[in-house]
Amino acid sequence: MSETNNLHMVPWKLVGDWSCKFCGKCCINHRIPLLFEEYARIEPRYGPRSVEPGEKCFYIRLLRDGRCFFLRRQGEKYLCRIHNEKPYVCRMFPFRILSSPKYGDEALSKLQYDNEVFYVYLNAECSGIVLGSPSKKFVEETLPEFVRLYEAYVEKIFAKKIVEKQSLLKTA
Ligand code: SF4
Ligand code: SF4
Repeated sequence: MSETNNLHMVPWKLVGDWSCKFCGKCCINHRIPLLFEEYARIEPRYGPRSVEPGEKCFYIRLLRDGRCFFLRRQGEKYLCRIHNEKPYVCRMFPFRILSSPKYGDEALSKLQYDNEVFYVYLNAECSGIVLGSPSKKFVEETLPEFVRLYEAYVEKIFAKKIVEKQSLLKTA
């Protein structure tokens, strides 16, 4: 999702728990970049109007009022029409996992997982964040789930860069 300057990030050690409340905030005025494989899956299935080109990749189309093309309202909840196949960037929200403490609070954001160090923040815009002392479930289930998701995403980006490099070498 594209970031704004007034982005407020909460380090994970200040978060007691998190669960999605289907408020839809992350689906309004957020541009969602797509991996090529996501674009190749979504565009043929939902048509050219579902995506829009950007400088380096395709994005999910934002409608004029800022809503994502796939957002739909059901009663009080906002749901994703492609929930089971939504892009990595959507699946990772509101977690932001980094290899350096980009948003400060180094000690509060540091996470040791599988012999690796990450810095984990949550986007304060999300309605599902409960501030407090991290619960057992948050530490043992939620955080590892999102770190694994992040690692899978990074692997895909890394693989794409290698393929690009190889094709550049081939054409050199
Ligand atoms: S902002 Fe948070 S609570 Fe709201 S839909 Fe997105 S992830 Fe769920
Ligand atoms: S694809 Fe789904 S989860 Fe992602 S922004 Fe659109 S409606 Fe929200």
